[in-house]
Amino acid sequence: MDHFTYRDGALWCEDVPLARIAEEVGTPVYVYSTATLRRHAEVFHAGLTAVPGAHLAFAVKANPNLAVLRVLAQAGYGADIVSGGELARALAAGMAPADIVFSGVGKRRDELEAGLDAGIGQFNIELEEEGAVLAELAAARGQVAQAVLRVNPDVDARTHAKISTGKAENKFGVPIDQAPAIFARLAGRPGLALRGVAIHIGSQLQTLEPLEAAYRRIGALVAQLRAAGHAISHVDLGGGLGVPYRAGDAYPSPAELGAMVARVTADWGVTLMFEPGRVIVGNAGVLLTRVLWVKPGVVHPHVIVDAAMNDLARPALYDAWHDFAAVAPSGARMTANIAGPVCESGDTFAVAREIDAVARGDLAVFRTAGAYGATMASTYNSRALVPEVLVSGDRYAVVADRIAPATILAAERVPEWL
Ligand SMILES: *Cc1c(COP(=O)(O)O)cnc(C)c1O
Repeated sequence: MDHFTYRDGALWCEDVPLARIAEEVGTPVYVYSTATLRRHAEVFHAGLTAVPGAHLAFAVKANPNLAVLRVLAQAGYGADIVSGGELARALAAGMAPADIVFSGVGKRRDELEAGLDAGIGQFNIELEEEGAVLAELAAARGQVAQAVLRVNPDVDARTHAKISTGKAENKFGVPIDQAPAIFARLAGRPGLALRGVAIHIGSQLQTLEPLEAAYRRIGALVAQLRAAGHAISHVDLGGGLGVPYRAGDAYPSPAELGAMVARVTADWGVTLMFEPGRVIVGNAGVLLTRVLWVKPGVVHPHVIVDAAMNDLARPALYDAWHDFAAVAPSGARMTANIAGPVCESGDTFAVAREIDAVARGDLAVFRTAGAYGATMASTYNSRALVPEVLVSGDRYAVVADRIAPATILAAERVPEWL
């Protein structure tokens, strides 16, 4: 459910017509609904009522906008971060350091130090050497880093290969069969309180079965670690729940996830941690764009919009689908390709798609663009960096400026020796 709805034939976000935002801020622009963010945060939390004491850390990489993070901080969420930059954002948004979890397969030494400086709640260690370095850094400062070991459970998440993270050949975590030995070598090091394990098998999961299979493996590992004398108090179950990108698609709900987790983890006796990203922010955002041209094509016309792959990379990166809808549909339909202005054939949002009929100058949206949208934007083709707007009721604010090509150009220089 979201708060982008038609009123009198035009698309609104909450109580603001999208046409007004297009007029005043320009296009392309991401538009987020505060009410939808709050609702999703609440529904995910409510889905886990059968899992008492669960810790919720929003995966910042899904949507790192400061204002979005503030909404989620106010909803009681901590942060799952993967870089020093995300650490700074989470802290600036008001997330408590104790509620911040540091994931990521390539943490730099200065990033580990920044985490220690901030006193974050947990480091998710991805390899043995990282654990050893973290222990040394913490011990040298007289600190004890709370940590869990990320394990690769070798489960096929059955999602797009580029967002699958829990198969043996993926770069993430330590192989589950080596986890007990690595855990034993890291546990007991001064500076490190290794208190549990973590997994995250992939993103945009369409069913709960791969998650359940992974959780069961982790449950067995917890029992094995305990039998070896380790105290296990925390298990981080990661994120990954998918969202419907096509109207009508069915996905497991947070309540179904919660029921499965409650069933599988009933006798674990640990604090469970979750790192939802997409499921919180995906449907809370659209990319608002204007049709530049409708260009005749050999098979179908090309609807050329002013948004491109540099603004929304998911279709080019993952062959991802985003529903496309006119802001003021006439009721007529057309079959068309939808593409942006970037000079690559990969800059295509849809092929031979039946859509609302649109003409030059019309406004339209790509739906479900709140996750992995603006955060992946670039300035490729020397385009502007896309701005972001947050709506709440009848108010809206520009929460990230459009960064003009001239500003980017101003940060470049020609050396005097040229
Ligand atoms: C990306 C990521 C998440 C969030 O994944 P979603 O599919 O957006 O829920 C959670 N944890 C880790 C470690 C991640 O890398």
